[in-house]
Amino acid sequence: MVVYRNIQNTRRPTNTSLTLVIKVGTSSICDEVTHYPLLGNLSRIVETIIQLKNLGHRVVLVTSAAVGTGLRRLNITEKPKKLASIQAIAAVGQGRLMSMYDDLFAQFDQPVAQMLLTRNDLAERSQYLNAVNCLEELLDMGVVPIVNENDSISVKEIKFGDNDTLSAITAGMVKADYLFLMTDVDCLYTDNPRSNPDARPVLVCEDIDRLKETVKVSAPGSALGTGGMITKLVAADLATAAGVTTIIARGSTPENIMPIIDPEKYADKMPLHTRFVAKPQPLMDRKWWILHGLHTAGTVYVESEMTEAIHDGQIDHDLFAQNISKVEGNFVEHQAVRLVVQHKNAKGLVDNVTIAKGIVNYSSAEIMRIMLAQEQDIVDKLGYKDANCIIHRDNMAISI
Ligand code: GLU
Repeated sequence: MVVYRNIQNTRRPTNTSLTLVIKVGTSSICDEVTHYPLLGNLSRIVETIIQLKNLGHRVVLVTSAAVGTGLRRLNITEKPKKLASIQAIAAVGQGRLMSMYDDLFAQFDQPVAQMLLTRNDLAERSQYLNAVNCLEELLDMGVVPIVNENDSISVKEIKFGDNDTLSAITAGMVKADYLFLMTDVDCLYTDNPRSNPDARPVLVCEDIDRLKETVKVSAPGSALGTGGMITKLVAADLATAAGVTTIIARGSTPENIMPIIDPEKYADKMPLHTRFVAKPQPLMDRKWWILHGLHTAGTVYVESEMTEAIHDGQIDHDLFAQNISKVEGNFVEHQAVRLVVQHKNAKGLVDNVTIAKGIVNYSSAEIMRIMLAQEQDIVDKLGYKDANCIIHRDNMAISI
């Protein structure tokens, strides 16, 4: 009998088996003008996944193009602006997209599964764990999970917004070794290579914040997709924090994944790509979920001493009412808020620095009544006391 550890650890059938999340954008799946499927590309993606599976790896595919495929099916030339129309088009396209994948994977007798997620689905800890367990179970069964955002029911508040972010969350959920962000260029460049011939490729990145200061990534994504290089950097930041090596590579040559994951074997034939090195001490599952799974419902401004309580990515003590100076937003207990410290910069202006995110024990209205108060005065001010602290240290995740 195989005994699996809990989800804090990675479940691996063998030592050499890797878990890969491959994100394919709309521009690799649909023709930008006609929206007809790029069947050659799709077939290459499917063939690559089959090869990876044959090598013993586990693969999750995060795919866009529900909207693009729906536009083609309904013979609509341009993506409308109205949300309900986009939702309806995605509802038509998603089924068709899955049927294309199922047809292609069926040629290799490979079962696939559809997982449609919204941010809301992951905001409840138990629901998040259910989604994790389902993905793990599918991978254990040898199935290829095919993930997309549930566009038909997503509105702004509960949207991941782009599939780069969704793929990074998915990679964190399955504790992937690699996240591949497949795009229409070979790698990240220091500037847009189409307009600047001096743009240089970025091959390896260990510090995304430093990288952001040196590269120009303002170019938007394709007409139908929502990404671009900016969302890829956000996704890489998120995934590497969870211990996932993140790669930007060209979507039309998915077979390049093979040499990228096996550099020793293919040293002399390495295709151009950007590698974001995974953080050596990834956040624990629950803290990562607080930071990236939970919707941020408001902001509490905390005294700058809180920054001194941060050591090695942990906060040494709980957040008390006396440490809070201001509250923004309407939130209720058990929602997540951003913790912000205000600093005066060299020009004498106030900088807001987000230091952490945490789950509150009191609502915004309650915190407004008890902020700056000592613990023993809470009952006097509120008439009751549900918890000693506003946020317990176990419910705080550092974001600096
Ligand atoms: N979920 C959208 C779709 O399937 C795409 C979002 C994105 O391009 O990032 O069309």
